[in-house]
Amino acid sequence: MGGESIHRELDARAAKVSEQVVAWRRHLHRHPELPNREVNTARLVADHLRALGLDEVRTGIAGHGVVGVLRGAAPGGGRVVALRADMDALPVKDLCGADFASEAVDADYPGGPFPVSHACGHDCHTAMLMGAATVLAGVRDRLPGTVLFVFQPAEEGPPVTEEGGARAMVEAGAFADPVPTMAFGMHVTPYPKGYVGYRAGNQYGASTLVRVVVTGKQVHGSTPWEGVDPMPAAGAILTGIGQLYRQVSAFDPVTVTIGHVEDVGRFNIIGETVTLWGTVRCAVESDMAEVRRRLTTLAEHSAAAYGATATVEYLQPVPPVHNSGPWVAAGLPTFRRVVGADRVVETGATLGYDDVSELIGRFGGLYVMLGVQDATPDAAGRPVPVEGGRGLATNHSPHFYADDDTLVTGVRLHAHVAYDHLTGALVAR
Ligand SMILES: [Zn+2]
Ligand SMILES: [Zn+2]
Repeated sequence: MGGESIHRELDARAAKVSEQVVAWRRHLHRHPELPNREVNTARLVADHLRALGLDEVRTGIAGHGVVGVLRGAAPGGGRVVALRADMDALPVKDLCGADFASEAVDADYPGGPFPVSHACGHDCHTAMLMGAATVLAGVRDRLPGTVLFVFQPAEEGPPVTEEGGARAMVEAGAFADPVPTMAFGMHVTPYPKGYVGYRAGNQYGASTLVRVVVTGKQVHGSTPWEGVDPMPAAGAILTGIGQLYRQVSAFDPVTVTIGHVEDVGRFNIIGETVTLWGTVRCAVESDMAEVRRRLTTLAEHSAAAYGATATVEYLQPVPPVHNSGPWVAAGLPTFRRVVGADRVVETGATLGYDDVSELIGRFGGLYVMLGVQDATPDAAGRPVPVEGGRGLATNHSPHFYADDDTLVTGVRLHAHVAYDHLTGALVAR
């Protein structure tokens, strides 16, 4: 059977599994689990992979990671493609408006209780890869290589007292045998439905979590001069962060966001500490050291100006998602076949992160954006909302939504990329 007819067969098998994929996705959406707590999600995945009769289903990797191994029966070049989906949800209230919206609350999570929802769309990623496993297992007699179905926990970052995520899976040996010759991942995003966005270069930026602890001296709220109030120092740090942008080149974007401030005071008590939690993003990884150095200086010296002290820690560093030119050139024909040439668009870089970079950086491969919202591209390729649609809602927003109709496209992307890589048609040269 030639390449063309097997591509048609992959599509037919994807269409056949699409209803099931939508059902999985809705189930997962209703039952989201926070990073490193993906117990039931991982069980659903592992049960499905076992039911498909894969050669191996490895579970409990770096927490709740699952890897399914499908060894093709056709002779070939011994290539190994790792298809990756992330499984975790976010502490965000679900206002997506769907009748399968989440009402879940995690009462025991560190720092919680939190409402939990798939505000980043990882429910779609997991369901699409489960569907791709069905499709590819159905043609295993014609696969000239091995497919790894990688279901990853804690993409959004585990609690700071825990390990987890893609790097932890690598360190646990998940990719030691067999070693992938390509990794592939995608992310649902506020682009027009069914569009594939790609970028040669850094698709996503480098990221690190930052924790700043400002320490003063606890005292009664009526006598601040007898203690040291850490609050104004924290305020000075927050304000000063706005100047960091002007201290590194404006041509490569950086972002420093403090998303959470935690104090231990009370209306009549000046607390001992204020802790700032945030994230640093750099479009170019080499800027990261400079931004960190300047943020640390800002925090320490701002605190000193108020008689307080500050300690600054950088945790959970993630390298940028980099698509090399040769890999992009190799992947474009596949993407164009799957969604049509007019729906494959070059996109700008963003300062999101995805720790799939740990796999693509090690093994080579590609990462693309999959549009799932009611939008149409303008002349410059930017998404604009369509009339009567649900508008554009970014990932991590409580209003984020993903249209079910597009999931089958993600299944087809996985299946075509895998087949094309194993046959040697999709290889960086
Ligand atoms: Zn996210
Ligand atoms: Zn995400």
